[in-house]
Amino acid sequence: MWAASLRPASPGDASRAREDFIPRAYRDHAYEEIPLPLPGERATISCPHSYPLFYEPLGLGSDHRFLEVGVGSGYGTALAREVVGARGQVVAIDIDATTLAFARQNLDRLGYSDVVLVHGDGGRGDPPHAPYDRICITAACPAVPAPLIEQLAAQARLIAPIIDGTRQRLTLFEKTVDGIRRRVIADVLYVSLRGRYGVGSN
Ligand code: SAH
Repeated sequence: MWAASLRPASPGDASRAREDFIPRAYRDHAYEEIPLPLPGERATISCPHSYPLFYEPLGLGSDHRFLEVGVGSGYGTALAREVVGARGQVVAIDIDATTLAFARQNLDRLGYSDVVLVHGDGGRGDPPHAPYDRICITAACPAVPAPLIEQLAAQARLIAPIIDGTRQRLTLFEKTVDGIRRRVIADVLYVSLRGRYGVGSN
């Protein structure tokens, strides 16, 4: 399933073609394992392998209520919508109005009209649509923003790159009856989270 999501789409399946989420100037590089620049202040579309790297440990599945912090291109948003299906829900927040407008254009053009796109500080989450079964942050955080932990449903999971000195550890958090369990998945390299819970704020 993931391999299929990451290949150039076959005819009739154009909605998951990665090049449709990439600015024209960089489209020839759509299937290389590199991040590419996006409109906005500090946004990149992540490497192709990063989506299964995040969504598989997260256990994203059918019917989940999913929150994405850091929409960027909207590619991860579209993939998530494909995974959760029509009975799930995808809410996606970006702090950069220019980047979000680019994502909105991509998602609208490809028919993803039922994802909820929010312009704001994703560190604060989106309480009206909470609780979430799965949360994914695609920007590096000093720590998981407390509001996001609060907006997780029981036994729900969150994944985020957490800053650890000069490294970023992609970390999976699981809400259990005994508290929050955490597991480091891999080292990654993401742009920094902005806003109230971002780098350099307090
Ligand atoms: N998953 C995206 C990657 C986006 S890069 C993709 O592959 O296309 C990180 C994104 O996080 C940027 O778009 C940036 O604007 C956004 N961002 C940074 N801080 C944020 C915050 N506090 N709330 C919401 N979005 C934020």
